[in-house]
Amino acid sequence: MAVKGGNMSEIFAKRRRIMMEHMQEGVAIIPAAPVRPYGNGLEYSYVPDSNFYYLTGYREPEAIAVLRPGHERPFVLFVRDNDSFAETWFGKRSGVKGALENYGADEAYPIGEFAAKLPELLNNKPKLFYRFGASEYDGTVLSAIAALRGKMRLGFYPPRTIIDPDLILGELRLFKNEAEEIDLFRKACQISSEAHIAVLKKLPFCNNEADLEGEFYLALRRLGAERVSFNTIVAAGVNGCTLHYEENRAALNRGDLVLIDAGAQYQGWCGDISRTYPISGTFSKEQAELYEIVLEAHRVAIAASRPGTTLDAIMAESVKVLSAGMVNLGFFPTKDVNSVIEEGLYKQYFMHRVSHWLGLDCHDVGDYHIGGKARIVDKGMAFSIEPGLYVAPGSGAPERYHGIGIRIEDDVLLTDNGCEVLTAVPKEINEIEAILAQAKNAN
Ligand code: ZN
Repeated sequence: MAVKGGNMSEIFAKRRRIMMEHMQEGVAIIPAAPVRPYGNGLEYSYVPDSNFYYLTGYREPEAIAVLRPGHERPFVLFVRDNDSFAETWFGKRSGVKGALENYGADEAYPIGEFAAKLPELLNNKPKLFYRFGASEYDGTVLSAIAALRGKMRLGFYPPRTIIDPDLILGELRLFKNEAEEIDLFRKACQISSEAHIAVLKKLPFCNNEADLEGEFYLALRRLGAERVSFNTIVAAGVNGCTLHYEENRAALNRGDLVLIDAGAQYQGWCGDISRTYPISGTFSKEQAELYEIVLEAHRVAIAASRPGTTLDAIMAESVKVLSAGMVNLGFFPTKDVNSVIEEGLYKQYFMHRVSHWLGLDCHDVGDYHIGGKARIVDKGMAFSIEPGLYVAPGSGAPERYHGIGIRIEDDVLLTDNGCEVLTAVPKEINEIEAILAQAKNAN
């Protein structure tokens, strides 16, 4: 999607300025994501690289951004050239002219000229910000460095220090503090929420996991999202105990729960929501018992989400509730809550973490630890809250709970003294049951 309106192009320009302030000197080479082919002449649906997009707003493949602080023309873009044949087959390209006029490039060249121009771009720059092992340009970069090294007697010098630009970009992207970017993020979460609600209302008329996946996709596309944030998970019954189940083609059996973990991506921003519903329209006693525990673990985690804490501390709140709940239901006949936590026994039924960063990538960038310790979270950071319980058949839990998998997930953005919950899909048992009853009767 092209850059819309003036505000976002100013934000992309501001991000480049801040990136260059952090670089201080040297040159950054940030490639777009490659097109990934499969089969005979087919391609996976294109997903732009989020670092490249964050700095440029440019969404076409075969492009490279070059940033050189201190230079009078600091922002150089290499892009696919216009090509009437290719554009007839695959759609419009912005071309070199578009890169200059619409994307704020100070200089722009066809991507085919990158290898030839690179030695000149690197020459006498002490630092190179480039991530090896992540694009198809490693060889080109190494050749350019070697070419400069061969001419040092003549005054040509390659960068002597190579730095992963993620060290800067990960930290910049971790903080969502610009009103315009927060609005886009809110919109992604709002579309994700509305699409989940659309799915909930269709549930009484669906017979297969695939139906629910299709309803989610239909809703998010109608609402203006470009794609899913990640492969949709629709896991009915025991499939809910597989954390990343993606087959989505099993029949829906009345009496089971269905776990839906799905999100919409809007202008690059990712929503990520999980809900678990009763297929029959009402929770059984055992399902409700486990559900209320997960819901309480979800509530305490959201209440604990504020600047000054850590994701570990937030998770510990959830783990306390989950462990106490399981002890009460007889999951660990010989253990008390403290030993279930200290010995990590809860991990048999809750094996993932409560939070991951959210943003332009669904599992967003930014370090989780600083100096070996969980980092203190602050205003502008966004993350998921997603406790769950997964009782696989054959586990030591009382048999009446076997085959039940539950996850409840929302997205939060830290504010000055708490958090804003960006997602809104019913999660109380009575709300869910009322909506399902109403949907069934409305038809
Ligand atoms: Zn998630």
